[in-house]
Amino acid sequence: MIELRQAQETVLSSISSLPITFVPLADCDGLVTVTEISSSESIPPFDNTAVDGFALNYGSVVAGTKEFEILGTIAAGDAGDIPITASTAMRIMTGAPIPPGADCVLMVEDSVVTEKNGKSYLSFSKKLSQFENVREAGSDIREGQILFPPNTQLFAGHLGVLASLGVQTVSVYPRARVGILSTGSELTSDPAPLLRGQIRDSNRPTLFSLVKEMGATPVDLGTIPDDQDSLREGFLEAASSCDAVLSSGGVSVGDFDYTKQILDELSEGTMSWMQIAIKPAKPFAFGHIGSTPVFGLPGNPVSSVVSFELLARPAIRKMMGHEQLFRTPVLAIAETDLHRRPDGKVHFLRVTAHLELDGRVYIEPQREQSSHLLYSMANSNALAVVPDGNGCKAGDQVETLVLREL
Ligand code: AMP
Ligand code: MG
Repeated sequence: MIELRQAQETVLSSISSLPITFVPLADCDGLVTVTEISSSESIPPFDNTAVDGFALNYGSVVAGTKEFEILGTIAAGDAGDIPITASTAMRIMTGAPIPPGADCVLMVEDSVVTEKNGKSYLSFSKKLSQFENVREAGSDIREGQILFPPNTQLFAGHLGVLASLGVQTVSVYPRARVGILSTGSELTSDPAPLLRGQIRDSNRPTLFSLVKEMGATPVDLGTIPDDQDSLREGFLEAASSCDAVLSSGGVSVGDFDYTKQILDELSEGTMSWMQIAIKPAKPFAFGHIGSTPVFGLPGNPVSSVVSFELLARPAIRKMMGHEQLFRTPVLAIAETDLHRRPDGKVHFLRVTAHLELDGRVYIEPQREQSSHLLYSMANSNALAVVPDGNGCKAGDQVETLVLREL
């Protein structure tokens, strides 16, 4: 058996980032930038008002002018280029440009408007200050300012900034196209009643969802029965059409596991068949068909998920330009004892994690931890990392990988 770290290093050392590409802004959510991004424009692009009210010249207010003739209205979207003078004001709507000559805005709530001879006049008693309610050009972002360093993962806030600058496409690492296939003659996806010996393929939809969740593009490549020709054809097709391939099943030592034989042949001997000192997910295979990395995940449903989490996910993140490849473990508090026996392996226990009002994360293990128990997977949102030994006591702090939002 090898240590998990060593298996992860074997995988990651032969993975490189995908060729960079320009992606339309709307499709960039979650993707990682390549180069530094700086702003080509100032935001806001012009001085504008933060409130509905009246644009005035501060100097004339200080000089004692008490009444201002209202020249008109500047709506958001208007050019607002008619100047005001010492005795005039402009009605102005939030976001509209401050007209030439104005340098403060009186809130409409503080205004008194009177009509005389068909004209409108503004007066007020509120004490104004210069630049009151004026949002200065460039106060958010200055032209030429460095906004995002290389390798920034783009989220909603970043996309908003880039959209406000008129950016149409961004140079990013693309979403990896990840092919997902299942191997095993017992598997079916047919809704018809199961024949004796058959089970339904649950790994494929599970892995599909996990790939999608991490921002890559899953490609469903179906189920392949345990026969050499189908496996050869299926893996060749997968490797030629995807950036990475996830297969599940056939990596342990069963009599009809032709997967090993076919992958050895197609990978020209680059496959490493590993026994990793973890539970679940001890068997794992990794290699390349051509230049496409192939992850041979174990068939047991829980093992395939844990293997994906610990070995495939970090590698796919690396392909997509991420610098942080692994989840940051949370130190969680065990609510009950976490049982295990010494066996030379690190155990990844399915647990339910929840955030309490004291700001700490508490975990409770699923009662059954066997790797064929799918149901326990649905009811857990985290994996507690329990080192070799006799487990942990209630109240102990335990490193925990939180897989879903708490
Ligand atoms: P294997 O790794 O092929 O020996 O499979 C180990 C166990 O996982 C067996 O009980 C398989 O029937 C089961 N298994 C393999 N692939 C899948 C799958 N796609 N969905 C559900 N169970 C599977
Ligand atoms: Mg099998």
